Amino acid sequence: MTHVYSVELFPPKTAEGMNKLKQDIPQINALGPAYFSVTYGAGGSTREGTFETVAWLRSQGIDTAPHLACIGSTREQVREILAQYHAQGINRLVALRGDLPSGMGAGNSGDFRYANELVSFVRAEFGDAFSIEVAAYPEYHPQAGNPARDLENFKRKVDAGADAAITQYFYNADAYFGFVESCERVGLSIPIVPGIMPITNYTQLARFSDTCGAEIPRWIRRRLEGYGDDVASLRAFGHEVVLGLCQRLIADGAPGLHFYTMNQSGPVTCLWRDLGLTI
Ligand code: FAD
Repeated sequence: MTHVYSVELFPPKTAEGMNKLKQDIPQINALGPAYFSVTYGAGGSTREGTFETVAWLRSQGIDTAPHLACIGSTREQVREILAQYHAQGINRLVALRGDLPSGMGAGNSGDFRYANELVSFVRAEFGDAFSIEVAAYPEYHPQAGNPARDLENFKRKVDAGADAAITQYFYNADAYFGFVESCERVGLSIPIVPGIMPITNYTQLARFSDTCGAEIPRWIRRRLEGYGDDVASLRAFGHEVVLGLCQRLIADGAPGLHFYTMNQSGPVTCLWRDLGLTI
């Protein structure tokens, strides 16, 4: 099996952040990822930043997969963005629903309700011009009524034309393999690539995890809490945990890994090196 290893960035909010990112990208690119994905704030909240980051990556000849979150957008707006990406030679997208930023009420939800509608729209308007990745949730999406419903909804995205999926991050490999098995039982055979979140900052990770429904197992949480201000020990432990997770995922059949870099080159570089992926 050829594994696909990819990395994710978010568009910086400031010019200073953008300059720093541009300095860091060559180091990440030197690792040889299959592509860089760039997040997009639902409702267009990072629109210009995403466009700038994507355009810059393309100017460096880097394979880029922009994320596109459809909630809060009209068909016309989405069509324009897709046409722009197509003209830039982009042939891969991460198609999402997104979450409306607080303050944008239900009245602003736009023409799309769920990601499967975006996938259908891309296929109807642009045929096979884009390979489409969608999101998957081994520990289930926080708004999903129950796991069976969430799986049905995931299947809708695949039936609409998704080529592959990237998961929400998780630290429990069994949740991932259980999810993949459930997918296989309902006839879904697309690659489901684990999303990998390095552990570098406990407070931020705990806050994030509560919102997105990713579980930090108790033993990991307790160890991380115990390090307090000892950042070096926390990072060393975080590295061991995530490295072990990646090794198990690959050994037991995951089709690749997608690293949430959080725009930091250090943690992903160490993981890449210790996984023996460096080219
Ligand atoms: P959907 O697949 O539409 O699912 C959302 C919820 O609705 C689920 O509970 C699902 O079970 C339910 N559902 C789906 N279809 C139906 C249906 N037809 N009928 C009834 N219920 C349904 N967010 C951003 O804003 N920008 C990003 O760039 C971004 N990148 C991400 C990348 C990855 C790899 C992942 C895993 C998440 C990302 N997110 C991003 C977060 C994501 O937008 C949120 O998790 C969001 O709440 C759900 O998006 P989705 O595409 O999974 O939605």
